Amino acid sequence: MKSKRIQCFGCSVLCDDIYVEFEEDGSLKTTINSCFRGNSFIKNYLSENRLSQSVQKQMGLEMFLGNEETISFLEKEISEANSINFYGMGTISYQDQLQVSLKIKEIIDKKKTVSIDGLNNSSEFLLLPSLSTIGQGINNVDVFIFWNTNPTHSHPKLFGKLLFSRGMFRLSGKEMKKFILIQKEDSDLTRLKDILLDISDQNSSQFIKEFEKLLDGKPLEEISLGNLSIENLRTLKTFLQATEYGLIVGATPLSDHVSISELSDFIQKLNSFVKGRFAYMPLTSLTNEIGMYSAVTKIFGMDDKIFQSKPKPADLAIVFGGEYLRDEFNPKEFEYPEKKVILFDNFKSNYSKNAIITIPYAIPGIECDGCATRLDGINVDLLKWNSPEEDVKTIKEIFERISL
Ligand code: SF4
Repeated sequence: MKSKRIQCFGCSVLCDDIYVEFEEDGSLKTTINSCFRGNSFIKNYLSENRLSQSVQKQMGLEMFLGNEETISFLEKEISEANSINFYGMGTISYQDQLQVSLKIKEIIDKKKTVSIDGLNNSSEFLLLPSLSTIGQGINNVDVFIFWNTNPTHSHPKLFGKLLFSRGMFRLSGKEMKKFILIQKEDSDLTRLKDILLDISDQNSSQFIKEFEKLLDGKPLEEISLGNLSIENLRTLKTFLQATEYGLIVGATPLSDHVSISELSDFIQKLNSFVKGRFAYMPLTSLTNEIGMYSAVTKIFGMDDKIFQSKPKPADLAIVFGGEYLRDEFNPKEFEYPEKKVILFDNFKSNYSKNAIITIPYAIPGIECDGCATRLDGINVDLLKWNSPEEDVKTIKEIFERISL
């Protein structure tokens, strides 16, 4: 029986220690070392449900299109639209993002309006002090603050690794890791807490102000931090003061109630209070959200208005990675104000029902090579190990061929 080591493109942890085993006839037998999410991600792409051709909707009918027809369809729709919004660019590889960005530049040069959803978000959280690597999170961090986020489902292997080393002997000789949870409702993490800050009655801005009182040394009686008693406030203070290497794990997009500058000021203040320092790890909901920032910057530079543009309803939406839209752990509900949606997705879904065309594409790390940036900023090469159907091309190939 043959087996192969692969990289998983199932979430932004981009695990590179996954194996796949094949049957004698070359079909996939099983995945080894992947989490439940990665397992279903890989198996889905090799299942019979997978689209092997574009599906166009016309007057309630479905028509399957070949490559040439798909490209002509895209050229016509893009040329006719005066404004286009791109969604889900964080779900594709760096090479695909670069090619799409080049095409966006061409579209803008034709005096059309273009926005890229999520770009502001990814450029913002990169401003926060970041961790060096996931490995440092596992080996060095002694205090974790999980801020309104729960990686047990969204990033299962990451959380397993962080948890597994908890309380065990580590080379650094550090004591058990502490888990501080800031959350609005109970989750699978709740039972692992050392300190739980229930902020269901407090918005994030108020919460940060109260937290800063603690860091400023105000009397504990004057501080109203979530539901914490004076005794718990004292324990929290002790944990923080002793922290050598702390990590704030937060979801993206950031909470609507906290701005990046508030969070940045807060971390700065925290870092002058603790023994060592706290860094920030964004649990990006899209696999290559951080790579998107690099790709777009490479094509547009830092100051281009593309970073300021906020999507307003456009004539046309172009959506990548529709599989994420079905992801129950994706914090963002995608709703498209655009009447016309072109969807790059590999399965039929409720979203594809509303799209004028659904175009399957080759998945990096399975059907094509590529590169993506892990949530800690490390670039991971994704290598092809299975051939896609003849009409399934990479996003890069598709966009290279679009002529405007
Ligand atoms: S944690 Fe993410 S990258 Fe790792 S196996 Fe699971 S889905 Fe794949």
